[in-house]
Amino acid sequence: SKITGKGRVTHYDTELNSVRERQVAIEGQIRSGLEREEFDVWYQPIIDARSQKMVSVEALVRWPRRPEGPLPPDVFITIAETSGLIYALGQFVLRRACQDLEPYVDLKLSVNISPAQFRDPDFEAKVAGALEFSRFPATRLQLEVTETYVLENPERARSAISNLKAQGIAVALDDFGTGYSSIGYLRRFNFDTIKIDKSLAGLVDRDEQAAALVSGTVRIASALGMSVVAEGVENEKQMKLLRLAGCDQLQGFWYSQPMPIEAIRALRQQRQC
Ligand code: C2E
Ligand code: CA
Ligand code: CA
Ligand code: CA
Repeated sequence: SKITGKGRVTHYDTELNSVRERQVAIEGQIRSGLEREEFDVWYQPIIDARSQKMVSVEALVRWPRRPEGPLPPDVFITIAETSGLIYALGQFVLRRACQDLEPYVDLKLSVNISPAQFRDPDFEAKVAGALEFSRFPATRLQLEVTETYVLENPERARSAISNLKAQGIAVALDDFGTGYSSIGYLRRFNFDTIKIDKSLAGLVDRDEQAAALVSGTVRIASALGMSVVAEGVENEKQMKLLRLAGCDQLQGFWYSQPMPIEAIRALRQQRQC
């Protein structure tokens, strides 16, 4: 067959259509998956750098009972965001996580929030509703937001963050080191915690510049009264360097993979964390 400019355009359109078709199919699957309770919430321990004890967990959504096979969360979360299904999925995660963690009174809970969820003017009220439903204290909850959201609508972000904080909920800036955050920006939004992305924290054992950037971030955070979590800790050397750099909390496969709540309970019974 002839490969003409026109031919390529046609081919490209076909590919675009099939991407779009796949998205529409997954949208339908998410919708029925929510009805059929195919989603689960797993938890990854967050460890205090000094005591090396589990002090918190991050809730991460899973879709183990998808009939068509497994799909990673960043893929279906993106599709849930563009289709508006993130409101229902996000509320499911928040409620389930609060219910699951409620009995573990010494553990805090950190939940990821999509930029799209913040666009909902009732978002803060829905969070309050989830807390009430599960009798989960606001002071044990932290929400993780990304820069994308905060930069997209700074005024709404500021008011949402201050409304949440007025309820006693902490707010963390997720994926720090992947965007453009400045000191002024950190100050303006008054985050409680900065989470250093694994693409930066995971380099400290190989890259002196990365290690210096982590130490610098810790100094800035401490001057602003914010705590620092390093994610993506995969080996002992990284753990030691991140501790030395002054990170308050550590998270990563070296400590633990994300796991179901039953496994968190078993881990605590073994008193290994
Ligand atoms: P994230 O919020 O940055 O979550 C951390 C991701 O890093 C998780 O991937 C976790 O399993 C993974 N991880 C943890 N420790 C290590 C490590 O040592 N090395 C490496 N290479 N990876 C590690 P996961 O569960 O696949 O989630 C991917 C992303 O999907 C999350 O990134 C978050 O952006 C999104 N996501 C997951 N669950 C939710 C949710 O309930 N709501 C929303 N809005 N987004 C979610
Ligand atoms: Ca996160
Ligand atoms: Ca992250
Ligand atoms: Ca992320």
